[in-house]
Amino acid sequence: MNIEQQIKSLRNELREHNYNYYVLDTPTISDFEFDQKLKQLQDLEKAHPEFYDANSPTLRVGGEITKNFETIPHTYRMYSLDNSYSKEDLEDWEKRIEKMVDGKVEFTCELKYDGASISLTYENGKLKKAVTRGDGFQGDDVTANVKTIRSIPLHLKGDFPSLFDIRGEIVLPFEGFAKMNTERVELGEEPYRNPRNTASGSLKLQDSSEVAKRPLDCLLYSLKGERLPIKTQFESLEKARQWGFKVPEAARLAKNLDEVLEFVNYWDVHRHKLPYETDGVVVKVNNLQQQEELGYTAKSPRWAMAYKFKAEQVSTVLNQITYQVGRTGAITPVANLVPVELAGTIVKRASLHNADQIEKLDIREGDTVFVEKGGEIIPKIIGVDFTQRDPSSNSTKYITECPECGTPLVRNEGEAQHYCPNAEGCPPQIIGRIQHFISRKAMDIEGLGGETVALLVNNGLINNYADLYLLKEEQIIPLERMAQKSAENMIKGIEASKEIPFERVLFGLGIRYVGETVAKKLAKHYKTIDALKHASEEELITVDEIGERIAQSVVSFFASEESSAIIERLKNYGVQLEISAEKLANQTNTLNGNTFVVSGVFTKVSRDELKKLIEDNGGKISSSISAKTNYVVAGDNMGPSKKTKAESLGVAIISEDDFLQMIS
Ligand code: AMP
Ligand code: ZN
Repeated sequence: MNIEQQIKSLRNELREHNYNYYVLDTPTISDFEFDQKLKQLQDLEKAHPEFYDANSPTLRVGGEITKNFETIPHTYRMYSLDNSYSKEDLEDWEKRIEKMVDGKVEFTCELKYDGASISLTYENGKLKKAVTRGDGFQGDDVTANVKTIRSIPLHLKGDFPSLFDIRGEIVLPFEGFAKMNTERVELGEEPYRNPRNTASGSLKLQDSSEVAKRPLDCLLYSLKGERLPIKTQFESLEKARQWGFKVPEAARLAKNLDEVLEFVNYWDVHRHKLPYETDGVVVKVNNLQQQEELGYTAKSPRWAMAYKFKAEQVSTVLNQITYQVGRTGAITPVANLVPVELAGTIVKRASLHNADQIEKLDIREGDTVFVEKGGEIIPKIIGVDFTQRDPSSNSTKYITECPECGTPLVRNEGEAQHYCPNAEGCPPQIIGRIQHFISRKAMDIEGLGGETVALLVNNGLINNYADLYLLKEEQIIPLERMAQKSAENMIKGIEASKEIPFERVLFGLGIRYVGETVAKKLAKHYKTIDALKHASEEELITVDEIGERIAQSVVSFFASEESSAIIERLKNYGVQLEISAEKLANQTNTLNGNTFVVSGVFTKVSRDELKKLIEDNGGKISSSISAKTNYVVAGDNMGPSKKTKAESLGVAIISEDDFLQMIS
């Protein structure tokens, strides 16, 4: 094989594996093998730029930066859909269309995926353009970003037409969304509000490698083109599937409206089990000839109808708006409601998010408001019942000073949230930082909980986390709900935390954007707090996975005299501010590049020890088995489903002894 053939064959192979993994969800090789092949292709492409291909699987990781998204007209307009909310609405619609077409009308029922709509153009089987819906006539060219979404084929298979558009919805599945939010909260950032907005925001990020990191998915539902070889909507779904697109199986051909309603009723209940958000069903006339006869109104096709699921909704009275101050000083307005039952739970409070939201809703204390529980976990206020408004009420004035410490609030340009800048003196910020310091993933102090921290701060016993190490039993005993025993335990727990390794202490310091993973990376790289303290921004950026934002935050943390003083004190009290000599001696690179899943119960070492051994020797730990896993270390009682999964993916299953052998 010559180089060009080699490159082409690797591309084909990788494409197939991508398809198996992201579209079919049934990978046939391990991620390790996949990564090796990808690396091989990357090397070949680098050495032979003459064989460049804009749709090579190596481009999935992104890298292209878009400064301004170009506006592009849609070849076929992207219409809206008319909405219906009841059986009667659907019956009226059926009557209207039956008058306009010849013959019997059948329907395709699909779920209405709630994400960002996208139009993809394929030419000769290759993805040419990806354009957002925009105003329906023209949208933004987001091709570079969309190419990083692994379930969107860059090359088609089978008997695809030479030129066509396909439409779909880019969604962020719940699991990936929750994971992104956990990471954000850990970094002291505001969580994203819902998957839909996050998905559509992702498409407009300038750096496509950031998009590549987000677990986006794309579900397709409609083909547009000249003289396409299809006669019905249902057939077009099947065809698209054959060409390599991800078309959800939850679509049905309905012979009549009764069958449509069966579909609607089934999914109204079962949609809650789907991995992504849906907000209804789209019913489409199945026959494309009939679709053409029916045509369009000014806004939407006559041949389609969205049936919206009812989000559960109630009305209640807003008693008062209060304001919470978070650990980072962010202010969140909270609606305190007259308690009301909604979707099986009693709702008393709802977040109002920020000043803009309050203004947008024009919400006032005493208003009757509508509260809804949709796909999101937290109920939200969707509007005010203006017919019930007291005409003498005044519009809400957002606070200008911190409700806890009286400091004037600030709002940085481009940010929605107000902040209290008084980090050192604002009680909830002081308490929040100490609570973070003692939390399970940081210092994990036994005998001390979040409420006790508040008690200690409010009684003037501590003001920062270093103060914990000066606490005396006799100071604690007189406090509310405290006794000799609990005070003893607390002091013991605090004492024991001096053994917590450096990386967790570093995480506990609460430096903005330094989460668990980043703390590990920094600890491993710099080894001591002093080395880290003296690192410049330029230097920090060279560390794997450390970006500008993190680097800036680290530098500004150490630049503060207060933090420096606190760190000196921690050092004097004996808290671990460097990687221990013993640990350094035990660290190797033996397992570099390998990912492990640990399952079951072990005899020679504990689960946690085993995990530590893996990391100390350069390995990575993952919680679930995927094609990315290299080894499963299996103890007693490993679950049978894990075993089957490992076997089907060809992941090596090794025993505790095998593992210890590996690193000895
Ligand atoms: P609307 O924006 O409420 O007018 O609804 C129309 C939008 O629904 C379309 O632009 C699509 O983005 C979206 N949609 C989601 N699922 C489907 C589907 N199965 N068929 C057609 N449109 C869908
Ligand atoms: Zn404050």
